[in-house]
Amino acid sequence: MRASRDDAHLSGAERLVDVSTLEKVAAEMTRRALQHAHGQADCIRISIDLVSPDTVLILPLPAMTTIRVPDFRSGRTTALNLLKAAGVAMPAAESALAAIAGGASPSGGNMRGAMLVDAVTGERLEPDSRRGIRVSRMDLTPEAERELRLELEKLGLDRPQVREALVLSGKVLAAPGVVAELCWSDDPDYPAGYVAAPQAGYVRIPALKPLGDNRGGRAFFVRGNRLDLPGLINFLECRPVLFDRPGRFHPDRDMER
Ligand code: AMP
Repeated sequence: MRASRDDAHLSGAERLVDVSTLEKVAAEMTRRALQHAHGQADCIRISIDLVSPDTVLILPLPAMTTIRVPDFRSGRTTALNLLKAAGVAMPAAESALAAIAGGASPSGGNMRGAMLVDAVTGERLEPDSRRGIRVSRMDLTPEAERELRLELEKLGLDRPQVREALVLSGKVLAAPGVVAELCWSDDPDYPAGYVAAPQAGYVRIPALKPLGDNRGGRAFFVRGNRLDLPGLINFLECRPVLFDRPGRFHPDRDMER
């Protein structure tokens, strides 16, 4: 589902479900688009594609940690350090972070999807820098969703944003050539974000922007001499991935000073 108002992206969501639940899920998506905290959509697009079960990749979710930070500037420093540890060159990490902070679309607004960034040179590789790459066709099994919600509830984090971001990052980390992801929301009331990387898992950072800021976005950092860009984009946008169990939950940490 994608919802917009006055041509600006408002909300979006991706599901991978059994045909028997299709009507219910389509109704939930419509309600969600109409009841968005930041206004009612004037355009809602719901598209449904049949996926063959034998093309579905079954994976566990990434491990999750929170690094506590005193403010968003420290949050951004923490994010840069995590990206560096994941193999992203500092100038590439810094320019992607600055692009999200300033509005990564050529119009200076938010992109609908994610930037693809060369982890060494910082070059932007997505074919359309207004749209970006939209990761789709991923979800949790009902059992995994139950288990995840129980764990997140213990941490006071059982919210759709957190669950959906974990699922999205899990698919991104499984993509060939991806070394890390940086994300924060465009929701002005939601300053948290994360860095995800194969070794570190999903590292939640409670502040990556000031409250009230409606800029947000995602960068997927890629590396590799023989990077197959069309294959990578096809994986991210089209390959069905279902998560059948949560990853580990590590205790919260304070940022390193
Ligand atoms: P959200 O976490 O939904 O607030 O999204 C934050 C930003 O991430 C958006 O402004 C988009 O740029 C990007 N984004 C949202 N959904 C997706 C997706 N499915 N695939 C890639 N990028 C996305």
